[in-house]
Amino acid sequence: MFRVTFLGTGGSIPQAGRSPSAVAVEREGDLMLFDCGEGTQRQMMKYTTGFTVEDIFVTHRHGDHLLGIPGLTQTWTFQGREEPVRIYCPHEAVEHVRDCVELAGHRPPYDVEIKSVGDGTVIDRGGYEIRAFETEHGRVDSVGYTVVEDERKGRFDRERAEELGVPPGPLFSKLHEGEAVELDDGTVVEPDEVVGEPRRGRKFVYTGDTRPTERIAEESRDASLLVHDGMFADDNEERAQKTSHSTAREAAELAREAGVELLALTHVSSRYSDDVSPLKTEAQDVFTDSFVASDGDEVVVEYPEKDRETRVVL
Ligand SMILES: [Zn+2]
Ligand SMILES: [Zn+2]
Repeated sequence: MFRVTFLGTGGSIPQAGRSPSAVAVEREGDLMLFDCGEGTQRQMMKYTTGFTVEDIFVTHRHGDHLLGIPGLTQTWTFQGREEPVRIYCPHEAVEHVRDCVELAGHRPPYDVEIKSVGDGTVIDRGGYEIRAFETEHGRVDSVGYTVVEDERKGRFDRERAEELGVPPGPLFSKLHEGEAVELDDGTVVEPDEVVGEPRRGRKFVYTGDTRPTERIAEESRDASLLVHDGMFADDNEERAQKTSHSTAREAAELAREAGVELLALTHVSSRYSDDVSPLKTEAQDVFTDSFVASDGDEVVVEYPEKDRETRVVL
């Protein structure tokens, strides 16, 4: 299972219906948080993501992306957590994250490793990796993150193998592993005769606060799900530029260019708290497979070749 839960989709300040930025990603049992805005732990309870987070990925030092860290790390202390936690963030944010962890004299009994990341940092998790990439958020040192699975072996064409005279059994596995096999009559069957192209894994991209950039488009190439800053509608385009955020339309243009399957807009400005339809309409005008994320939305990320594409489960 590769499940993405939107815990906080509001921009800058908490709103009655939206918490500040946080997204939980569960990939085959590994639970990660991307940003940790104020109140993230209550959202985790409300939307039942579980508390077994081992990694928190912070995009930048703004409070609406990290003020949930003091509460969450102190709750872990109450709960008697012993497992270490790793917090990744841009270099500039390291001291601020440490302040969050140690707020009000808090000294966690478990290890907290705070690691600085920058454009191109790769964290290998065995079977998948997490990459940091540069974003553009004014003068702030900021990154986005990609979770991408390793390529899987190509499909094995059983029928073709039998036609070529390969007996079902261990020779099938050898071919699938990429080894040529020799049959009793001396014929050699090469793997590429019966194994298709390697298949892409699932890919999730989270930008945090940013202007749309070429670097993001490149990183989002063929993503199953792109979660992009979509703070403003067209009526506030100038404001989006001035504050180094994006309009829904700009995010949709990027998603279309990058060939993503599904775009989720987040960091929604309080201006649209009563009605997100301008964001939705303007994004879908450019890229149909867009939606404005709400707190509690869940997306199950599917393999690219599945008939059923990545879709929102509400
Ligand atoms: Zn923000
Ligand atoms: Zn920000």
